[in-house]
Amino acid sequence: MAKKSDFTTKIINWYNQNKRDLPWRENKNPYLIWLSEIILQQTRIAQGTSYFLKFAEKYPTVEKLAQAPEDEILKLWQGLGYYSRARNLHYTSKEIVHKYNGEFPNSFKKLLSLKGIGEYTAAAIASMAFNIPHAAVDGNVYRVLARFFGIDEPIDSSNGKKIFQKIADENMDVHQPGIYNQAVMEFGALLCTPKNPDCENCPLIINCIAKQIDEVEKFPVKKGKTKVKNRYFNYFVLKSGQNTFIKKRTENDIWKNLHEFPMIESEKRSSTQKIIDTIPTSLNPKSFILIKETDWRKHILSHQHIHYKFIYIEITEEKVIPNGWIKVNKEDIFNFAVPRLIERELNNTNWF
Ligand code: SF4
Repeated sequence: MAKKSDFTTKIINWYNQNKRDLPWRENKNPYLIWLSEIILQQTRIAQGTSYFLKFAEKYPTVEKLAQAPEDEILKLWQGLGYYSRARNLHYTSKEIVHKYNGEFPNSFKKLLSLKGIGEYTAAAIASMAFNIPHAAVDGNVYRVLARFFGIDEPIDSSNGKKIFQKIADENMDVHQPGIYNQAVMEFGALLCTPKNPDCENCPLIINCIAKQIDEVEKFPVKKGKTKVKNRYFNYFVLKSGQNTFIKKRTENDIWKNLHEFPMIESEKRSSTQKIIDTIPTSLNPKSFILIKETDWRKHILSHQHIHYKFIYIEITEEKVIPNGWIKVNKEDIFNFAVPRLIERELNNTNWF
């Protein structure tokens, strides 16, 4: 796992240079921060900003909001949807005025006890307005953390939520928690976006696990979705005179009883040399001449992504053939039932 400083320092530096100018970032007023957070839930920034400005102008203080008739608030809210948010906003403004004398409570726990304020919003207000180091974890934060630290725990599981909260807290810059929270969220909103993240311009690229394993789109993992299993198949296309070798898939696995080239399954995309080193010694790897190899390709099945490549090897001296391997004349191979990805390779190569 990358060091805390790698993540936190770089992301805060990035934020300081790239943050958007948003009106609620101008000061540390808890009322305005709360207002912006409630308005922005499930709302695009552009639309949310105009509502925020309307509300902040009409109700510049929590007292003004508390005194307003509910109908008026709902009217101003019109078009934003999720009207319970507006009603909770009103209810809570009255509670703050009556129970807390118009002062927002400066404790995470008390903020959390207010109607319409959940863990995320309480953490956002606590950190931005009161400098309380509590990480705010929203969809953007889940995505950034999942990718950078390579966490494949589902974000919609209770265990996943605990893990992500812990990692977000551990990486917190306790001296500037509000900046840290906004930095990670802004980073997720602008750079590490759900689709087509701008990895090439990302200051975290060197230590980003998802990027290193070329699986950015896999993160974050959701339990709701079927978990896709990634597998890595290294196929050997062996040529020995006029012959080649194939194998029948007999295990209870995909493509049972189909034939394929001998293959080594690895846990990730390994280098060709590493794979060649694992070839059964009975075949005398010294007699292997590596002819060529293909790039990695991806074959998508409903629950599995098969990453595969073909490594073409000429055998100069045949020794003992490993168990299960079938020696076939290179022209006969077309008579065997093979998976689609093998069929495509057979049709596209003139090696046979
Ligand atoms: S390298 Fe790409 S995936 Fe990783 S943190 Fe940066 S933008 Fe996100």
